[in-house]
Amino acid sequence: MSSTPPASSIWHPFTQHGLGEPIPEVASAKGARLHLADGRSMIDAISSWWVTTHGHCNPRIMAAIAEQAGKLDQMIFAGWTHGPAEAVARGLREIMPESLTRVFFSDSGSTSVEVALKMALGYWHWQGEARSRILVMENSYHGDTIGAMSVGERGVFNQPYDPLLFDVGRIPFPAAGHEDATLEALERYCAMGDTAALIVEPLVLGAGGMLFYSAEVLAQMRAICAEHGVLFIADEVMTGWGRTGTLLACEQAGIEPDILCLSKGLTGGAVPLAVTMASEAIYEAHLSTDRARMFFHSSSYTANPLACAAAAANLAIWREEPVRERIAQLSAKQASWLDKLGQVYHFNNARSLGTIAALDLKSDGATGYMNDLAPRLMAFFRERGVLLRPLGNTVYVMPPYGITDEELATVWDAIGEAVLSF
Ligand code: PLP
Repeated sequence: MSSTPPASSIWHPFTQHGLGEPIPEVASAKGARLHLADGRSMIDAISSWWVTTHGHCNPRIMAAIAEQAGKLDQMIFAGWTHGPAEAVARGLREIMPESLTRVFFSDSGSTSVEVALKMALGYWHWQGEARSRILVMENSYHGDTIGAMSVGERGVFNQPYDPLLFDVGRIPFPAAGHEDATLEALERYCAMGDTAALIVEPLVLGAGGMLFYSAEVLAQMRAICAEHGVLFIADEVMTGWGRTGTLLACEQAGIEPDILCLSKGLTGGAVPLAVTMASEAIYEAHLSTDRARMFFHSSSYTANPLACAAAAANLAIWREEPVRERIAQLSAKQASWLDKLGQVYHFNNARSLGTIAALDLKSDGATGYMNDLAPRLMAFFRERGVLLRPLGNTVYVMPPYGITDEELATVWDAIGEAVLSF
């Protein structure tokens, strides 16, 4: 397709430039408020792709970055360390599951997943066991790098790359009433003996459509893996940092994974950073006097000090501020808005878990991702001063924890209007 050169040369992610849809420019932001370059103001109801848990430009996080910027900007991390990284590792050890004794840094949710997969394969390789099968849940999303795509749902998103994606074992999504099929498939795969790990998004499949499943089935899945020695990887990139009501979604199932992926809210959403936490057994499998056995993974910016300073500030906020109370209050408000809306309007599958609330519009025949319903909805919300990014016909709200009642009312009023209009 030929076109005249655009005013901007930026090639945006998940954006079809050929459609000529507007790309608003944001000049500044504070809390849940975005201020656009053209003077408009908007409410960020999805925490800017699920990251800004404490709101945009949180003063403590901004101050920590500024202070760190005066001391140390960047440092090679292979064989070196620095204070902010040590503070993050200590802070994580205090609040994350006790069995996760090791902290490996990377830069995004996708890379935290790549690291998790490599750790799992390394673990079995160095034990001398031929286990390389990765199990995944249907409809999952774990990122856009080749490994992360391989363990995610296949579809139009990754069609061109399919020849490069590796095979995995897929277990069905445990929809209410169909949990047995999931557990049976997991049991069958585990019994084959060549499975290295299961990777799951605990309790909520995010990009897959904000699909919720029960804590009981999550606990049962964990138990089946443990029984067969299959490593259990919890991808809490989206669910972590209080999104589902608890610090980790795994908490609600009373389980600890062997490997945990965290990113998004790790820095309060201010700057990119991720960690993959692992059990001592996984770390020890790589521990040796043989250099060939070291964990071969890094990127140039691993554990960037500015990002670590932001993460250390996020951890301090969790330690010192009533974050859990904020989450509980927001969760109750989200559930009550959903309930209120349900009494007036007709839609499907109203669901909420912690600070996430979602519903499905009844728009006939427009439930897939590639029709134009979601972009039309986005534009509709944008006109009403609200940033929402529906997934097909699923509208979800995932705001910063400090969103005000007035801002939340604007968001839900706009959703009410959308239910009537689409
Ligand atoms: N895993 C999950 C569960 C996610 O929701 C995402 C992103 O939405 C990722 C991994 C990938 O994270 P990133 O976009 O930071 O690479």
